[in-house]
Amino acid sequence: MSNLTCITVDVDQINQFDPIKSRNHIERVLELFNEYGVRGTFFICGESVIENQDLVKRIAQDHEVAAHGYFHRNLRRLKSHELKQEIRMTHEAFQRIGMVCSGFRCPHLVIPANLGQVLSEHGFLYDSSQVNSLFIAEKLVYPFTNMKVEGIIEIPIQTFTALNLPLSLSSLRLLGPTRFVKYIPETVNNFYFHSWELDRMGPASQDLSRRGNAVHQTKMKYDLLRGYWDFVTGRSTTPADLTGRNMGEEAIKIIHILLGKLVQQKTRFITCSEWADAHST
Ligand SMILES: [Zn+2]
Repeated sequence: MSNLTCITVDVDQINQFDPIKSRNHIERVLELFNEYGVRGTFFICGESVIENQDLVKRIAQDHEVAAHGYFHRNLRRLKSHELKQEIRMTHEAFQRIGMVCSGFRCPHLVIPANLGQVLSEHGFLYDSSQVNSLFIAEKLVYPFTNMKVEGIIEIPIQTFTALNLPLSLSSLRLLGPTRFVKYIPETVNNFYFHSWELDRMGPASQDLSRRGNAVHQTKMKYDLLRGYWDFVTGRSTTPADLTGRNMGEEAIKIIHILLGKLVQQKTRFITCSEWADAHST
């Protein structure tokens, strides 16, 4: 039997920085998926759904589009009524463009209390935010709840290596643009990346002035060196340290290698809602 794999993309906010660049990254992801026959799941913020209806509808022709909050806020920081409002607005954003959305992923993978309950009240069927990694410090402070009790199917993000890294492009970028291959687990169930990782500079650079960009570039180089130093010396690294390494073309090369390997293994690419359907009983 072939392996079933969900490839998931966090789009975040398309118009917050440079909308043209952001849309180009998404187009690039669509080309990559087309090349390898991937049917993926795109987690997009409600605000971006409204502002980019044409693009969202086009993505939905071949892939699943799911929700990623309305404004990409840290949901833990919201009061209970604000959380409900955020989830309601997110759900309504899809309704307004005539689409049904059944899946959710928390911005920054930070899961608020009672998320499952609020999601099921608003018609969502599944969540994909839990990642059992020590690199997600939140988990230590707020242990995961059983979403099933609250009527929601959880599609956890996979972890790998002895370090228990989340199986994401940022982890593979940290390991290096070719060196990562030997660390890829035998079975890949749920791999995720951000469309902005296809940009050499990341999302924060896109609307900066020339001087701002120079400062940002220096910071990225510093982050890269620090991330690498922390990694080779075995110090703990935080996701923030990982962000700078191997962005842009290197990131695209990593995706090519990974998808090529999965195709070779006769992987069947399924969307998250198909995964949730298969696990609903
Ligand atoms: Zn995000």
